Amino acid sequence: THFGFSRVPLGDKQAKVDEVFHKVASRYDLMNDLMSGGLHRVWKDIFVARVKPPRHVKFRHLDVAGGTGDIAFRVAKAGSRKTEITVLDINDDMLEVGRQRAARRGFEAKLDFVEANAEDLPFEDNSFDAYTIAFGIRNVPRIDKALEEAQRVLKRGGHFLCLEFSNVNIPGLDRLYEAYSFHAIPLLGRLVTGDEESYRYLVESIAKFPDAESFAARITDAGFDRASFTRLSGGIVAIHSGWKL
Ligand code: SAM
Repeated sequence: THFGFSRVPLGDKQAKVDEVFHKVASRYDLMNDLMSGGLHRVWKDIFVARVKPPRHVKFRHLDVAGGTGDIAFRVAKAGSRKTEITVLDINDDMLEVGRQRAARRGFEAKLDFVEANAEDLPFEDNSFDAYTIAFGIRNVPRIDKALEEAQRVLKRGGHFLCLEFSNVNIPGLDRLYEAYSFHAIPLLGRLVTGDEESYRYLVESIAKFPDAESFAARITDAGFDRASFTRLSGGIVAIHSGWKL
């Protein structure tokens, strides 16, 4: 089950990840629908329902690894005129697709796009009311640095929320899921984007990501309180939550 990425040293991992997302940016949204059978939309809806922007008070939201804007648009819809959203991504191709989608949907005024690294956020301490990262933290080479940065830029009382692939813990489903991941996804990648290797990376990075219990412990280690998680779809993905208290 190893395709070469696992041997990439930490310092080169980001370069590999960037290459993957530069290649897939234009087909990214279509591939998500195909690979998940549309389920990623449901997961994202459930995830963003956990963000609760107040009606009448200013709310500063940071969406890290925001890519093409899926999470930010949902927060914008749930929010009010007082909701300000920053979409941060390391990849300008992904941000560019996000900017164009924001313009088509009339969300430009609410959104700010920033090209930066989750491990080194260009914001002051205690700046945001909420931080989201969806299908992003798995790609970050130093996950603990990213968690510490999240903790730093959140205000006291701020909410950390992460949506990520997790561990399937239903007998039967786990094997089906593995077969689907390792065989069908690279094939789909080849047929739709002509790029099988990027999708092999995707599957491999999912398999290597820690299970929900271990990841919750790392969120606590980064200084968050009340770390908890909710599994969705038999553990294919999980929502992790933590608070800066
Ligand atoms: N959040 C979006 C979604 O749910 O559809 C996009 C997720 S996409 C799978 C992962 C994103 O993480 C890519 O846009 C990639 O450029 C970004 N990324 C990878 N490494 C990053 C880093 N170190 N800092 C910030 N963003 C990063």
